[in-house]
Amino acid sequence: MDYLLTDEQKMVQDLARKIAEDKIRPVAAKYDQTQEFPWEIIKVLAQSDLFAIFVPQEYGGTGAGVLDLCIATEELSRACGGIAVCFAASALGTFPIILFGNEEQKKKYLPDLASGKKIAAFGLTEPEAGSDAAAIKTTAKRAGDHYILNGTKHFITNGGEAEVYTVIAMTDKTKGARGASAFIIDKGTPGFGFGKKEEKLGIRASITRELVFTDCKVPKENLLSKEGMGFIVTMKTFDMSRPGVAAQAVGIAQGALDLAVKYAKERHQFGKSIASFQGIQWMLADMATEVEAARSLVYSVARMVDAGKTNVSKDSAMAKLFASDVAMKVTTDSVQIFGGYGYMQDYPVEKYMRDAKITQIYEGTNQIQRNIIALQLIKEMAR
Ligand SMILES: Cc1cc2nc3c(=O)[nH]c(=O)nc-3n(C[C@H](O)[C@H](O)[C@H](O)COP(=O)(O)OP(=O)(O)OC[C@H]3O[C@@H](n4cnc5c(N)ncnc54)[C@H](O)[C@@H]3O)c2cc1C
Repeated sequence: MDYLLTDEQKMVQDLARKIAEDKIRPVAAKYDQTQEFPWEIIKVLAQSDLFAIFVPQEYGGTGAGVLDLCIATEELSRACGGIAVCFAASALGTFPIILFGNEEQKKKYLPDLASGKKIAAFGLTEPEAGSDAAAIKTTAKRAGDHYILNGTKHFITNGGEAEVYTVIAMTDKTKGARGASAFIIDKGTPGFGFGKKEEKLGIRASITRELVFTDCKVPKENLLSKEGMGFIVTMKTFDMSRPGVAAQAVGIAQGALDLAVKYAKERHQFGKSIASFQGIQWMLADMATEVEAARSLVYSVARMVDAGKTNVSKDSAMAKLFASDVAMKVTTDSVQIFGGYGYMQDYPVEKYMRDAKITQIYEGTNQIQRNIIALQLIKEMAR
């Protein structure tokens, strides 16, 4: 399908596709096994200016936007969903600074994030506060020119590897969700350490780790926006980043579909290629249609965000919900088309199924996306 991409967007697509094929695909299985952070690939992405595409021009980026980020994330995910999320999670950690940083904060942090000299992470989730984010317990108490942070964030992508963290903590517990605030925290700040590194089902090239704050002294200049804005920062950030998760899902699904079509042509049973059986053809046709429908939705939402449309929570949630469900179905069907071989690690397709699962869980589970969509629908109906 022709999405009428600009010449610049086609360049981003070609560049990301080339890196994915030449550099990522050959090492995807290795990183899946070792669970090491893929620094060699991050350096290639940085040298290719891909971290610049989501940062405004005045702070060292190319100012391209969310659609470009989606296009790049999709192409990288087509080769490895795990490596792609190391890239996309840096955008997630950077968006709060782009959206809510003051001039000084933007000048201090964005150029290094745009060049890929540093990568970012976003810390919201805690052991007892996942979907119910307002239940976070990490506190930030004002003490003179500083805030003192105490608490633990868990399941944080790029944890320990990133240099810059945007973290949500409670500055006033009595105010509930309105008592949360967002901070920029540098790796190396005294009192900021890293805990358990998770062993995961999929996206194993990415690091998922605890952030531990023990009387961590953060300068007051590192508060993003104002006290009490923590969940506004979070929601506006997710509006921009959820299309990226959806694009990761589209890329994973497309990658699995590519493998399934190739295998169906090569594999012979009953004296014919399995691609000649209508049962397989119809599966492939449905898979291709679902992937294209997901891509159309993701690109439409990304275009709306780039055009400056506000109030995109429902649309972003729809893109993430639909694309991630498609990814899970298409990757599972791809394994089915490979038959018993699909179940074996000697073939690359089972990794796609493992990698797809997380897109239904992080940045809000798909149950939570449905809640967001339904609430907005009901609100619109009441008008
Ligand atoms: C690999 C990985 C990377 C991650 N990266 C990050 C990161 O970089 N930064 C970050 O802050 N977090 C990150 N997370 C956390 C992720 O966003 C949470 O895991 C997710 O939001 C779900 O929270 P939970 O795991 O506590 O599940 P829970 O909230 O305990 O949910 C358990 C189940 O209950 C369902 N449920 C909960 N509430 C409702 C409801 N109201 N209605 C219907 N069903 C409901 C959920 O959908 C789910 O099926 C990551 C998680 C993983 C696994």
